[in-house]
Amino acid sequence: MLVFKFGGASVSNADAVKNLAKILAKYDDNIIVVVSAMGKTTNALEQLTDLYVSRKQDELEKSFENIRAYHYYIMQGLFPDDSHPVYEQVKKIFKNMQERFEGSPTMNYDFDYDQIVSNGEMLSTTIVAAYLNEAGIAAGWKDIRESLISDDTYREGRIDWNLSPVLVKNNFVFNKVKVLVTQGFLAATVNNITTTLGREGSDYTAAILAYLLDIPKVVIWKDVPGVLNADPKWFDNTILLPKLSYFDAIELAYYGASVIHPKTIQPLKKKNISLYVKSFVHPDEPGSVIGNDSYDKLVPSFIFKMNQVLIKIFPRDFSFIAEDNLETIIGIFARTHLKINLMQNSAVSFMVCVNNDRMKIPQVIKALEDHFTTETENGLELVTIRYYDEKTIKRVTVAKEILLEQHNLTTAQMVMRDKPQSS
Ligand code: ASP
Ligand code: MG
Repeated sequence: MLVFKFGGASVSNADAVKNLAKILAKYDDNIIVVVSAMGKTTNALEQLTDLYVSRKQDELEKSFENIRAYHYYIMQGLFPDDSHPVYEQVKKIFKNMQERFEGSPTMNYDFDYDQIVSNGEMLSTTIVAAYLNEAGIAAGWKDIRESLISDDTYREGRIDWNLSPVLVKNNFVFNKVKVLVTQGFLAATVNNITTTLGREGSDYTAAILAYLLDIPKVVIWKDVPGVLNADPKWFDNTILLPKLSYFDAIELAYYGASVIHPKTIQPLKKKNISLYVKSFVHPDEPGSVIGNDSYDKLVPSFIFKMNQVLIKIFPRDFSFIAEDNLETIIGIFARTHLKINLMQNSAVSFMVCVNNDRMKIPQVIKALEDHFTTETENGLELVTIRYYDEKTIKRVTVAKEILLEQHNLTTAQMVMRDKPQSS
């Protein structure tokens, strides 16, 4: 048995779905296929949620129509016969969404978000499973929400490790099918209310299923050849890392490499499950494998986070930044769920680098203001280099002004911005 995860890019149009079927046909194994929403559907559904909550009816209808048209366009490329039952199934999903939009949003944004955004995976898996059968690959469709139970932390559901194992084992049975298609990113509470596991959470779903079913191998299919030492968006000459240890992978994910969801590694490591990252464009290439061994060369890896904000925090009474101040500050970030990307203190100031979250930053600043004064700097980038040396630091800091930097034995991090052009 294998677990495969296909992300949004690998199902973003009809040809991509056909390619997915071709990849599956290369394997004789039983495969659990975890699928994300098609293309950029999750982003579109996030916007739809915002429009719903802010009651912008006209825009809501337009945006809803775009999402529907996109999925129908893909289906027309896959199912020329318009009496194919998949059309009814998909119609039902859109009808349910529409009915929700006729009602009013609840007071709980995160709850509404999960109920709406989860439809992306319901649509993609319905279409993919139907197409596989059409292409001669016997596929069953599983509603992951009947197997994976989480708490009711909407948008960040935490897996119930007591209830989920039995359900997963009972439900994921290959009865006369080669493949079971299911949704990444989703779960449900004990009361059957849909939750999501955090953005890009489908990798995590794949890892959980492998863990609970004792499947020794997971493959994540991507539009890159494997785990690279930098995002090709920023660098022309990237290097493929053929082998990474779980520790390497956790570190890269922690610093923000978008290749694997940070929570993914933990369940894999516990059961020594190998994680392959392979290209869906070149499926016969070896890609990267994450396991117990690491690559013997220390290739520098670069991780860029754009649109960063530096918050500088000063105690109002000019007291030192010490344990009690730190407790207050970190407590505020934790309660607001604003993730700290980098932090550093001096005698009378504390600096925190965070993503530019327009909702949470004002909340944090407001809470800090009882005890501290604050200053913020916007429009920054955070660069992390693992296995850095002087040369690699120079490479990324050309024409940059560094506002904050931190080096340890293996990793260098710099918060910086473009140097003002001197005329
Ligand atoms: N579709 C979800 C997202 O884009 C989950 C995933 O892609 O892993 O965040
Ligand atoms: Mg996605």
